[in-house]
Amino acid sequence: MSERLSDYHGKRDFGRTREPRGRQSATGAAPRFVVQIHDARTMHFDFRLQVGEVLKSWSVPKGPSDVPKDKRLAVPTEDHPLEYEDFEGVIPAGEYGGGTVIVWDRGSYEPLSHDRQGRPVDFAESLEHGHATFRLHGTKLRGQYALTRFREDNWLLVKTAEGRARGHGTPDPRRARSVRTGRTLAQVAAEEN
Ligand code: MN
Repeated sequence: MSERLSDYHGKRDFGRTREPRGRQSATGAAPRFVVQIHDARTMHFDFRLQVGEVLKSWSVPKGPSDVPKDKRLAVPTEDHPLEYEDFEGVIPAGEYGGGTVIVWDRGSYEPLSHDRQGRPVDFAESLEHGHATFRLHGTKLRGQYALTRFREDNWLLVKTAEGRARGHGTPDPRRARSVRTGRTLAQVAAEEN
């Protein structure tokens, strides 16, 4: 198994969790993003952007907002396999990340990162430098967002431009429904336990 997911593999026992191990390779298609709601020790959203062969991941306690200028704390977590965009289910109690996961939103995104002169720069490189901009084409999230590192390894996720007439803020994670299956966290937990 390649090194690209060594942190991810190190944290999990695949005899116990049904999360994907990760075998899929990137296609030439537009890169993907996914936002999952994860009812773990603390409720949070997981925001993931495909960069090459992995999903770069951040834990966003309050979830992404579609209201421009709302700043949302985003804390990096380990790279996840590309198949994780489909993962919805229950991670067993006692395992890493134990709790219920739903796919809240997903789609493709358009990298928009550029340098101070306005020239496009490599997206992975812009993340390494701590500031990346992109346009999300999801079912719920649409429009231009930025991820900016502000202190050590804390980032802010902000909608930078209007993509729709008005934003709705962030939904209540307990009432939110999966974009994949229409289920709430409670329904997934009841059906899969
Ligand atoms: Mn999580």
